[in-house]
Amino acid sequence: MNNLRIELAKNLKPKPQDETKLGFGDIFTDHMFLMDYDEGQGWHDARIVPYGPLPLDPAAMALHYSQEVFEGMKAYRAEDGRILLFRPQENFARLNRSNDRVCIPQIDEEFALQALIELLKIEKDWVPHLKDTSLYIRPFIIASDAHLGVRPANSYLFVIILSPSGPYYKEGLNPVKLYVENNYVRTVRGGTGMAKTGGNYAASLKAQVEAHEQNYSQVLWLDGVEKKYIEEVGAMNVFFVIDGEVITPELVGSILPGITRKSCIEMLRGMGYKVTERRLSIQEVAEAYKAGKLDEAFGTGTAAVISPIGHIKWGDLIMDINNNEIGDISMKLYNELTGLQWGRIPDPYGWVV
Ligand code: PMP
Repeated sequence: MNNLRIELAKNLKPKPQDETKLGFGDIFTDHMFLMDYDEGQGWHDARIVPYGPLPLDPAAMALHYSQEVFEGMKAYRAEDGRILLFRPQENFARLNRSNDRVCIPQIDEEFALQALIELLKIEKDWVPHLKDTSLYIRPFIIASDAHLGVRPANSYLFVIILSPSGPYYKEGLNPVKLYVENNYVRTVRGGTGMAKTGGNYAASLKAQVEAHEQNYSQVLWLDGVEKKYIEEVGAMNVFFVIDGEVITPELVGSILPGITRKSCIEMLRGMGYKVTERRLSIQEVAEAYKAGKLDEAFGTGTAAVISPIGHIKWGDLIMDINNNEIGDISMKLYNELTGLQWGRIPDPYGWVV
């Protein structure tokens, strides 16, 4: 790439020695990708430089009005040593949809992917080797103007950083415990829920803290207006299997269009399951549960891949799903997705890069 400047670090950091101790999001590699945007110039000065602090004015608009977007994806090491990405084009396409929602200028998706690949070539030794470990990739864009008036910024910084991370499930795929969140809402239709922007996550923190205090791992979010319809689980999309039919909330603007969600829908349809995207009320799930027809429930996302749900509390009703065991569909999806991601099975979809 001739429009990408590369400045290599003089001193390299030691890599994690014991990969069994890898957690999430604390260790960063030697280099990062940067690109600037200025009005009149567009995106320019793409570069890979040593990892380090960003020069940022205290008045930078992202710090005040959260004009920022991000993505989350992973690089996986296959047994034969190849470094694989899973549908990375989808992440850059979603980044641009998030950009649009918060008035950040569009990026060149193909250029961003090629720049990421160059960065990964330089950092390939940072992709951990142990089973189920990966190199987490965090692209993000922040408004960098020093300006305190509320308006879209005139200058931005696009950054990609990399972080080796451990297996999400240290003790295996255990079903999680949730309660239905009746107090807080994450986002509403017409809001920013469909975008991956920091404010949505700030809005979700208090619910998460309260759930942890009560020994629940996540909350089940309902729609922000009627508080009737199921939206997401924590920072994952959610699926319910009712009487053999797989149902996931339709993308109504307040739900993040997950790439794992999309992949699960496509895979399940290929396996012959009936998959429906529609509004699904918590009342309907409760009735299915009482009728013995709630077969399975699970969350989907890049971090956990598939997160089986074993227990949902809604007011006084406790729903124990599938005896707190992993259901057949959850297990099939987990095996198929992780098989593709780590290059253990052939890729009939053309999803792996
Ligand atoms: N919902 C939210 C709110 C998320 O942050 C994520 C993680 N990106 C997801 C769903 C799952 O999306 P994906 O499958 O693309 O990781």
